[in-house]
Amino acid sequence: MSTKKPALFIDRDGTINRDCPYCHDTSQIDIYMDAVSLIRDYRKRGYLIIVITNQSGLGRHYFSIQDLEAFNEELNRRLKELGAQFDYLYYCPHIPEDNCDCRKPKDGMIRRAVQDHGIDLDSSVLAGDRDDIEGELARKLGLKFIHFRRV
Ligand SMILES: [Mg+2]
Ligand SMILES: [Zn+2]
Repeated sequence: MSTKKPALFIDRDGTINRDCPYCHDTSQIDIYMDAVSLIRDYRKRGYLIIVITNQSGLGRHYFSIQDLEAFNEELNRRLKELGAQFDYLYYCPHIPEDNCDCRKPKDGMIRRAVQDHGIDLDSSVLAGDRDDIEGELARKLGLKFIHFRRV
């Protein structure tokens, strides 16, 4: 029997919290309750919760790694109060011109998480607000896509 766990991979900005854009100040954190419900639900079912987020604001020097980490910590503190904390978070710090392998819709962050945590990719799911980013990535990997349509 496999001991591998499935994961809920989930986007951050525009999916868990309202997009800013280039959110980096904790005063900007505004959490969507439907994302909280989804995370809670998957936690109960034994999924790892893994945030995967493009943060080109780092590469553009709009904010620092310290800003990013403070934002992520505060976001997770508030999610935890709601019973919806994430287990791990991966970010891509690059700009498109860097041609990295991790900027979504590329699959680098998911590949890394699968390796780091022994995840059962086949039963994992991906949630996001962008069909052209998370949707495309989900189709590439054959994952179920949960689409939060934000206006
Ligand atoms: Mg998004
Ligand atoms: Zn990258």
